[in-house]
Amino acid sequence: MRKTGAEGPITHVRISSSLLPMNADLQRLTELEKIDREASRLTEEVAGLPKRVAAIEAKLAEHKAAVEKAKARIKGNETTRRQMEADIKGFQEKIAKYRSQSSSVKTNDEYRALMHEVEFAEKQISGCEDKILDLMIGLENEEKALKVAEAELKTESADVEKEKADARVRTAEDEKLLAGLKEQRETIRSTVNDSALAHYDRVMRQRKSALAEAREQKCMACFVMVRPQTWQEIRTNEQIITCNSCGRILYFDPANEAAAPEPAKKKSKARAAEVETEPEQAEQEITPTQ
Ligand SMILES: [Zn+2]
Repeated sequence: MRKTGAEGPITHVRISSSLLPMNADLQRLTELEKIDREASRLTEEVAGLPKRVAAIEAKLAEHKAAVEKAKARIKGNETTRRQMEADIKGFQEKIAKYRSQSSSVKTNDEYRALMHEVEFAEKQISGCEDKILDLMIGLENEEKALKVAEAELKTESADVEKEKADARVRTAEDEKLLAGLKEQRETIRSTVNDSALAHYDRVMRQRKSALAEAREQKCMACFVMVRPQTWQEIRTNEQIITCNSCGRILYFDPANEAAAPEPAKKKSKARAAEVETEPEQAEQEITPTQ
């Protein structure tokens, strides 16, 4: 069993200083729980940061895709326009050919047939020109859309870089804090009684918290009442006493007693008897530490 001296690495405990001298292990476990909770909060935060960065990067990829899509539409527009211009040239060449043929035709029918071809080609040219005009109007809109998408991408890229840098800084800070907490944790653990520590670890693993305040003769974590005798012992904070129902280590904070006066003794007894008929643990676990 390790020695549990009064001096230690504890800088502050959440229980008011006005109370009775507290069992050294109980005081240290209180501090240890605070450290463990902060460490798990930081660990969760560190684990969550890459996910946040991934989410922003996914959004950035969407903006990149929007820019690429706008560029592809502009390219498509230009290709179609060049095709239209080539078609116009082809029809113009045909018209020139028909006109030169018309001077050497022998019959009116042949002449009319050629003129019909010219008319058809001219209609085709007119159709192409309409399409080119539409494409030019469309191009203006597509270029505007591209500019908007590019501006959004630029802003987004800057934001992403900032977010990534922030995440890197936060991760480094958290890891530094975690390293500090780990050290504090080890120091505290080395001074706590082995069986109390083993109980703390077991309950912490199962319930994510290992200590609970006892107030008005109740465990404030599971709200099950404790026996009057146990309650008197808890009030002294002199021993490690665990809740019969949830197993958490109970402590008493006199600062909370004034606001909540103790219920009448008779009633307490009745309620205690009622709730303690089937305790999860057979016996009240009391671990003397010194
Ligand atoms: Zn409890």
